[in-house]
Amino acid sequence: MTGRIIDGRAIAARIRAETAAAVKTLPGQPGLAVVLVGDDPASQVYVTSKGKATIEAGMRSIELRLPADTAEADLVAKVGALSADPNIDGILVQLPLPKHISEPNVLAHVDPMKDVDGLTELSAGKLMLGKPGLRPCTPVGCLMLAKTERPDLTGAHVVVIGRSILVGKPSALLFLEQNATVSIAHSKTRDLKILCRSADILLAAVGRPEMVRGDWLRPGAIVIDVGTNRVPAPEKGEGKTKLVGDVAFKEAIEIAAAITPSPGGVGPMTIACLLRNTVLAACARRGWSVPERLVTR
Ligand code: NAP
Repeated sequence: MTGRIIDGRAIAARIRAETAAAVKTLPGQPGLAVVLVGDDPASQVYVTSKGKATIEAGMRSIELRLPADTAEADLVAKVGALSADPNIDGILVQLPLPKHISEPNVLAHVDPMKDVDGLTELSAGKLMLGKPGLRPCTPVGCLMLAKTERPDLTGAHVVVIGRSILVGKPSALLFLEQNATVSIAHSKTRDLKILCRSADILLAAVGRPEMVRGDWLRPGAIVIDVGTNRVPAPEKGEGKTKLVGDVAFKEAIEIAAAITPSPGGVGPMTIACLLRNTVLAACARRGWSVPERLVTR
């Protein structure tokens, strides 16, 4: 058996097109501010592509690129100013921040109404309580991808490997909200392989290249691979690298019913969901009705 590839790029392109179409129907233009501190190459690439995608969706993109030695107080002041700016609807602080800056302290200064990353305490609390609010982008993307294969998740056993604030925990809560039965695994979980073999849907958010092997999967499982790991690729030439997921893709696709590739699965969905969240934030802040095409997801 060979499983289907869940084409995150194509699904994300559809969501981006829907979001762009929705933006055209709004009475004003939403604005997204992205704050980057330092010169981490991967973060630079993410911020550039987020800015480009924002403009392509018909929204205003504001990029704030600050030096790595920015003082925490200065960053807090800048984030506070964006929170107070009536023309900004969404604020994303690109993580990780340099070691000398407290991420929770900075995030505490993001206006929760503009928290398009869904990472403030209020957003996390609303998710926990099942109240409407802005949900973290990567977990929402994972849920959307899983639902392309299994629209009704009622009773499905979802195993989430990873319990980070960014991915694992919010993903588990989102699947729980869909009436799935959710197990959360982490580095101290015993018999992980056996647990994984009981999953109808396996979501891997670990950060360990190809840790999940083909024989960890129940035949017919759906696999959502969040992992994005850079590893040496000598086959491409000396010193070359490539990206791989947390799941051994070639083995897994022989067993799974469907699997997201990495890259090309969850990653594109994160940006698509960020754009969608920006529109939702703008509508909530400015009292606009949410365009029909964005309501049902
Ligand atoms: P993280 O904060 O480092 O969390 C990793 C989690 O994996 C932790 O909960 C850890 O358990 C668990 N873990 C580590 N080793 C394990 C093992 N041997 N067995 C079971 N669990 C283990 O990472 P993250 O931010 O959630 O990111 C996870 C991966 O997703 C990374 O590869 C990251 O690059 C990728 N990512 C991709 C996107 C995207 O848009 N595509 C977005 C975010 C993250 P403990 O809690 O016990 O330490």
